[in-house]
Amino acid sequence: MIIIAATAIVCAVVGWCNAMTWKKREGLAVDSLKIVQAGSDKISDEVESIRIHCCIERAQLQQLTEVLNVFRDGVIVVNTHGEVMYANKSASSVLNVSSDEVSGRPISEIVHGDELVSKVIAAQGGIPDEGTVFEYEITSDSQSTIFEVRMHTVGNFADQTPTIVVQLRDMTHDREISQLKSDFVSKASHELRTPICSIAAYIEMLIDGDAEDDEAIQEYYSVISKETGRLQKMIDNLLDISRIEAGLMNIDRKYLDVGELVNRAVSNLNPQAQLKDTSIHVQLAEVNLSALVDGDMLYQVIVNLLSNAIKYTPNGGRITIDVDSDNLTKSLHFSITDTGLGISPDDIEKVFDKFYRIENYQHNAQGTGLGLNLCSHIIESLHNGQLGLESTLGKGSRFWFTVPIEGCGAKAAA
Ligand code: ADP
Repeated sequence: MIIIAATAIVCAVVGWCNAMTWKKREGLAVDSLKIVQAGSDKISDEVESIRIHCCIERAQLQQLTEVLNVFRDGVIVVNTHGEVMYANKSASSVLNVSSDEVSGRPISEIVHGDELVSKVIAAQGGIPDEGTVFEYEITSDSQSTIFEVRMHTVGNFADQTPTIVVQLRDMTHDREISQLKSDFVSKASHELRTPICSIAAYIEMLIDGDAEDDEAIQEYYSVISKETGRLQKMIDNLLDISRIEAGLMNIDRKYLDVGELVNRAVSNLNPQAQLKDTSIHVQLAEVNLSALVDGDMLYQVIVNLLSNAIKYTPNGGRITIDVDSDNLTKSLHFSITDTGLGISPDDIEKVFDKFYRIENYQHNAQGTGLGLNLCSHIIESLHNGQLGLESTLGKGSRFWFTVPIEGCGAKAAA
């Protein structure tokens, strides 16, 4: 641009000088004025064209800057002298500098981390076409963030003008997810192995003829049957949880009288409660208790909470199930209260985690450690409700949950 402008100006001035000489020589004033006029027109055309080009370039640069600022990845551009030419918003916030302050500063002043600086400087000597990838960790306020760094060069090394583009991707969340996944796989395989080992051991004993009489044989069969049931339940629960987490669970909502679901669950579990001399009391408010819910899933939640109440309440206990409607939050409130073992404050949050079982209670009842996790998925993820727990160790627990009457809407606390 500058060259074009300079050429135009030079041409115009040369034209004007020539005109003046010619005028003197030939004395033709009118013609020379025409030439000057043409020269000055040419200047203004060129200046206008440069101005338009500059505007377009500025607009394009601005647009490019805005595009790079949208990226969640940090982008830093470094020139051949190791000076930062550009850093997008994300990179500036990672490096804790303002975008306007970075331009022209040496990379070593901006990036706190010898490793990254030395890699950028080394890249000026050349890097493969496909770029380089390495990890870089920043610790700030005793919290560390792991980045995947990708470096590419733009331009060529032959004319000594390569530009290095550094891309910073925050990997902390991905690392946490992969840690959660591997924890889950190791917990799941451990929990699945327990019933399988037990089944295998009892089958082996039957094959070896270890059972002395028919009674012992029956006992072995009953252990195998119980453990198979537990395995089946664990796999069913795991599949349901993963379907809900993946958003693949179909939910079939209908207006239902939930009082009917509660009565059905209680009559199915009463025999189990009676074996422990435990009574179950139903208190349904005398109002309309219909809501837009998936009946099978809500039934599963009621059965899970009631069966836990029976399992973790010593003989002779009392269980109450209440259902009421709240006009203010337009939701139904359920609560299942027992006079059982109770849960310590430390365990209250953990019991909703996958596979968590309170160690001391494992001899009280068999379980999978997945029931409460599935309940929270059904209530919170699928019904937009809430599930909670209040408990006093040694005295008993109250599990409560809410579901919106119209199937969605604001979450209602009990
Ligand atoms: P589980 O199949 O082991 O019962 P859950 O996910 O339903 O699995 O429950 C997780 C754990 O929470 C149980 O193992 C038990 O330790 C504790 N728990 C659940 N309900 C109660 C309750 N009503 N009283 C005391 N502890 C309970």
